[in-house]
Amino acid sequence: MRILAGGTLVTPEGLRRGDVALEGEKIAAISARLEPAAGDEVEDVTGCWVFPGFIDAHTHLQCWTGMDWTADSFETGTCAAACGGTTTIVDYATADRGVRMEEALAEWHRRAESGAGCTANYGFHMAIAEWGEDGPEQMRAMREAGVSSFKTYLAYDHLRLTDAETLRVLECCRDLDAVLCVHCENGDVVNELQRRVLAEGVTGPEGHPLSRPAEAEADAVSRLLYLAQIAGARVNVVHLSTELGLLAVRAARARGQRGIYVETCPQYLTLDETRYLEGGADGFAGAKYVMSPPLRAASDVRALRGAVLAGEVDSIATDHCSFNLAGQKDRGRGDFTKIPNGGPGIEHRPAVMATTFEGQLGPRELCRLMSEGPARVFGMWPRKGRLAVGADADVCVWDPSARWVISAATQHQAVDYTPWEGFEAHGRAHLVYVGGELVVRDGEPTGCAPGRYVAR
Ligand SMILES: [Zn+2]
Repeated sequence: MRILAGGTLVTPEGLRRGDVALEGEKIAAISARLEPAAGDEVEDVTGCWVFPGFIDAHTHLQCWTGMDWTADSFETGTCAAACGGTTTIVDYATADRGVRMEEALAEWHRRAESGAGCTANYGFHMAIAEWGEDGPEQMRAMREAGVSSFKTYLAYDHLRLTDAETLRVLECCRDLDAVLCVHCENGDVVNELQRRVLAEGVTGPEGHPLSRPAEAEADAVSRLLYLAQIAGARVNVVHLSTELGLLAVRAARARGQRGIYVETCPQYLTLDETRYLEGGADGFAGAKYVMSPPLRAASDVRALRGAVLAGEVDSIATDHCSFNLAGQKDRGRGDFTKIPNGGPGIEHRPAVMATTFEGQLGPRELCRLMSEGPARVFGMWPRKGRLAVGADADVCVWDPSARWVISAATQHQAVDYTPWEGFEAHGRAHLVYVGGELVVRDGEPTGCAPGRYVAR
């Protein structure tokens, strides 16, 4: 057995001082004091918080996004995730037009199993880019293969469904007791505004937020929630970025609508739209922040932080979708609509959250937002997201006293920048276990890759 001794345990019942024993792939014992037997390995974790491993339920690894392949593969992305304390990801497999969901799922399994394998565990959502007669049958097959959440888009011409099709998908989700994750932006409005902004001669990264206003998000959030109400389906509003969108969520909840989950991301809680003006030597550094939805006004950041503190947010994910600034993002020089959309974050979410909400969110709240919440919403509770006997031995031992600086020079994400360059982090993953195996010590990988598929 491996015994983690003397830490502060973040359990569903609350914080307690004690020891945790890992045996095989499970948590074998939790007690105020465990007596090691001969052959047991003991780690003194005094002063650390012992979390169930963090879960990032929104990632895009090794994925063709319509413009380019993401910089991170499953191998590098899950390793970077683990280095930050994340032991499970749920990645978006995508059935592009003309591709059946079964084929897409098989392809994503192949990708995850390629290279040296995955350091963190992985599950898949299935994104649906085309709706046909046998959609319900394909979705049922997905459900049987362990995919209990789907995704549709209300923006991006090569991915989005009509409202009628979205309603059909919602009804199927209801019948399968699955959750629908939706990218909420009004695609028609975005297309029109992109044309106008370019026509006005704004071609740099600063044109990106101008073409995707808060209203385009709020309209789509509102529409989605009404469609979900009609269907009686559960929905996860992914990467919520605006106060207006939040107001639409509040309105639906105030009407008594159930089954609305809200996800937001560290970038929308710490960075604002002034980043697009960070020209840099060549005037193009703002491309680092070209992601959709875009970074928003400082008032939106404040509103979302308030929602996190008020318990209105169910999970914090990253929407990790990395592209190098040199060689990928820069092909959109002179036309911001050609900058690949997305940014990295899979490695730094726990540190950014713990630091930016220091003194406001304690270990229990961090656990709820980054482990228990996503485990519950996405069908992994109580096996994951819970520090308890019988749960999976995915554990993050967090040292709240560690001080370090986030930098692209030292990160494990396979990309040439981080939006948090120079950010002084308070707290760090000290020891990370996946399926009972030690995969990270003090932010550095041990080289073992025990990550497995998580059927949900
Ligand atoms: Zn995404």
